[in-house]
Amino acid sequence: MESRDVPLTEGGLPLPPSPAPDWALFLDVDGCLLDFAQHPSQVVVPVHLQRDIVRLSDLLGGALALVSGRSLESIDEMFGELRALPAAGMHGLERREPDGRRTFPPIAPQALDGVYAEARQLAMSHPGAIIERKGPNLALHWRAAPEARDALRAFAAAALRVLPDYRAQGGDMVLELRPGGSSPDKGTAVEGFMAQAPFRGRTPVFVGDDLTDEHAFSIVNACEGFSVLVGDRHPSAARWRLPNPAAVRDWLARATLGAHDGVHA
Ligand SMILES: [Mg+2]
Repeated sequence: MESRDVPLTEGGLPLPPSPAPDWALFLDVDGCLLDFAQHPSQVVVPVHLQRDIVRLSDLLGGALALVSGRSLESIDEMFGELRALPAAGMHGLERREPDGRRTFPPIAPQALDGVYAEARQLAMSHPGAIIERKGPNLALHWRAAPEARDALRAFAAAALRVLPDYRAQGGDMVLELRPGGSSPDKGTAVEGFMAQAPFRGRTPVFVGDDLTDEHAFSIVNACEGFSVLVGDRHPSAARWRLPNPAAVRDWLARATLGAHDGVHA
């Protein structure tokens, strides 16, 4: 699609078209469906969002999945009505397949317990900094304590010396220690879903705001799908853009109403 054929957003990338019936839709959660909060547990799930996602999933023949850095447990706590939907948690380390089968994250190495304890100790001297343990992953958040950024980054670099198979993955005001090497990411999660029904053969569409979403953007670009960045991050492999989570929710809600060309009930 030529960008001059569609309205450009202020960020210079075009707005995505309305969801079409042959899409396979992958949605990031924080900063995409939901506005950020100071603490990950404080995010608010707007009224109607779950209903809209369920409807859209039905319209897409079930080819809709949530793909998040959160654990599946956390996703299910927030989106109780969506427990039956396919989902990938911890940036793809764990998955719920379309038939309900679960892929579990690797066991955390023992050394992570010590790193976790030290990180919590460090966070105590930076009020607002949050250490979040998610299976084998450890997230260091500084959204509510921006001055803690350098200390947390230095801590992560030092921690990698005792977690030899790990890598540090940057996000929005967060750094995450996670198993490295060829371990799954959001891109491999998308590939995994696209290899099976009801996703197979559809046009992949990924919507997200994270640095970690770039893996998935590259995958959908390679498949001539739609890579949709939420917000203003540069550089990005995304070719379409929605300005914020409210615009994402609007875009999804309009699709369920059949108000635009595309999916109709
Ligand atoms: Mg996000």
